[in-house]
Amino acid sequence: MTKANTNYLKLTAGYLFPEIARRVNAFKEENPNADIIKLGIGDVTEPLPTACCEAMKKAVDEMSDRATFHGYGPEQGYAWLREKIAAHDFQARGCHINASEVFVSDGAKCDTGNILDIFGDDNTIAVTDPVYPVYVDTNVMAGHTGSATEDGKYEGLVYLPMNAENDFTPPLPSQNVDLIYLCFPNNPTGAIATKETLTKWVNYARENDAIILFDAAYEAFITDPEIPHSIYEIEGATECAIEFRSFSKNAGFTGTRCAYTVVPEGLTAKGDDGSEVKLWNLWNRRQSTKFNGVSYIVQRGAEAVYSDAGQKQIRALIDFYLENAKIIREKLSKAGLTVYGGVHAPYLWVKAPSGYSSWDLFDMLLQKANVVGTPGSGFGSAGEGYFRISAFNSRKNVETAMQRIVENLQV
Ligand SMILES: *Cc1c(COP(=O)(O)O)cnc(C)c1O
Repeated sequence: MTKANTNYLKLTAGYLFPEIARRVNAFKEENPNADIIKLGIGDVTEPLPTACCEAMKKAVDEMSDRATFHGYGPEQGYAWLREKIAAHDFQARGCHINASEVFVSDGAKCDTGNILDIFGDDNTIAVTDPVYPVYVDTNVMAGHTGSATEDGKYEGLVYLPMNAENDFTPPLPSQNVDLIYLCFPNNPTGAIATKETLTKWVNYARENDAIILFDAAYEAFITDPEIPHSIYEIEGATECAIEFRSFSKNAGFTGTRCAYTVVPEGLTAKGDDGSEVKLWNLWNRRQSTKFNGVSYIVQRGAEAVYSDAGQKQIRALIDFYLENAKIIREKLSKAGLTVYGGVHAPYLWVKAPSGYSSWDLFDMLLQKANVVGTPGSGFGSAGEGYFRISAFNSRKNVETAMQRIVENLQV
């Protein structure tokens, strides 16, 4: 008899987006002429930078010629891309990261899930609440948790609340934890971590022999030079942190697929006999065995992000989304809502008016303004009473949606 991995049956999420679709469809049936604007999606809307497109077209031509054709590439990514990543994203910011520590992949989402392959099954795991659901669900799938509880949490995980009361700065865990997922700039709240906050985490991890899994997918949206882009800007972080990066949000590669993970050579975890095991060796082995690299064409596209033209074009893309975020902030505030985030991130985290739940605000925005966002409760129980609005959209949609909210929603 074949047994299934019944850990999957513990998963409760996957409920959020179907429920949003159900409510939107019910509304459409009653209001067939309503022009619904979706500000709920975590996907980019603007086309790829031309520098990336040109590089990929050139790479396609190379593939069509026997003399310049490429078959399997290195599982870790081509050296020319890893060197540009190390130099530009790390060394230029004073981080001691070498090309050999960069592993190119087809996504930060898969890397944040796959990374569990190199850790034992009895670590205590901490996540923030609210949280990017991938961190939680992949631990549920791996059997690292108990069942889901009433309030949407899982037994066995340590939840660190992030809310207006603590200025969206998760507290250090009160019990000992081994793996800590942090995402800054944060999805869904748009919050950032200062150098001071990250230093506190790095010190905690070093003192407690813990490892930080740092997701910096939104680092390009940081506009204040004092805010760290990488956890490796903090002294000692190469001894306690793995960092995930992606070309999805800075260069619009959500449908093109390229990302990378940094595993420092000196990073270790404990073997069964208490000895130090180099995590670089394990990740390198894991990738070489289960992954065959990102396509040559796409890696050439990612490389073009680091050209002068590419840098200018991604800056324009990010500025465009940040301007959307600014418009959303201003208009929602004008409508009387309290808004967080949206300054160093493409997400705005809106406080539901007093007495309103996340879903109440969802229904109100849908009915009065025909605007769809994401209920904060879908990202964890501490997200209840909040609402996520994404700045990934056309200017016209943002302006129309905000005008409707200002005109029809008074709280
Ligand atoms: C979008 C996003 C990513 C990027 O995922 P890809 O698989 O590289 O597209 C990673 N982390 C968070 C929190 C995200 O929102």
